[in-house]
Amino acid sequence: MPDKSHSQRMARKKAVVDAAIAKADRDKGLILVLTGNGKGKSSSAFGMVARSLGYGYKVGVAQFLKSRRDTGEEKFLGSQPGVAWHVLGDGFTWDTQDRDADIATARRGWQVARQMLKDESLHLVVLDELTYLLNYGYLDEREVCADLAERPLSQHVVITGRAAPQCLIDMADTVSEIRDIKHAFRSGIRAQPGIDL
Ligand code: ATP
Ligand code: MG
Repeated sequence: MPDKSHSQRMARKKAVVDAAIAKADRDKGLILVLTGNGKGKSSSAFGMVARSLGYGYKVGVAQFLKSRRDTGEEKFLGSQPGVAWHVLGDGFTWDTQDRDADIATARRGWQVARQMLKDESLHLVVLDELTYLLNYGYLDEREVCADLAERPLSQHVVITGRAAPQCLIDMADTVSEIRDIKHAFRSGIRAQPGIDL
């Protein structure tokens, strides 16, 4: 016998969801922040790159921290037509012994990102691991937020990195914090190609 109360509950739920969908009738270039200590921030951003390419849109990617070369995402997405891929963090030392050089690298990198934020042809711009440059004080939060605010109206931006500063969270439309529950690395398993890089 069909469960009547279940189907009534589902019908009520559907009405609520349909009403919410009908109400969301605007389009807008979004700022999305993917933060937190768990795994899945950059890979989620690259998932949106793949989605955008599926519609034939152009995409810009800036990787601000690159501890490893030759990641799968760069090998595959970086060579797709319609993708501008910039690795901007090669000069970082991260031992703060040459803070001035790191600041100069960060600022040069931001100039490249800034050009993408002025480029109307880019549907999506990914600023991967940007949060670290803000948290280390290598880039000026106000300057970064001003450049983000001035981008073309329909351009989407995804920003990844742990400990997103409040100013980014405040100006973002969508913010997800990925919580670390378990990670294979802590069981002694090295980074796996196709999964971690
Ligand atoms: P991914 O690129 O896999 O989506 P992420 O962008 O969320 O990861 P990052 O902090 O940028 O995380 O770390 C990049 C690398 O570190 C990846 O190889 C990832 O698997 C690994 N990693 C992410 N989170 C953790 C964690 N909590 N413990 C150990 N290693 C992690
Ligand atoms: Mg990452």
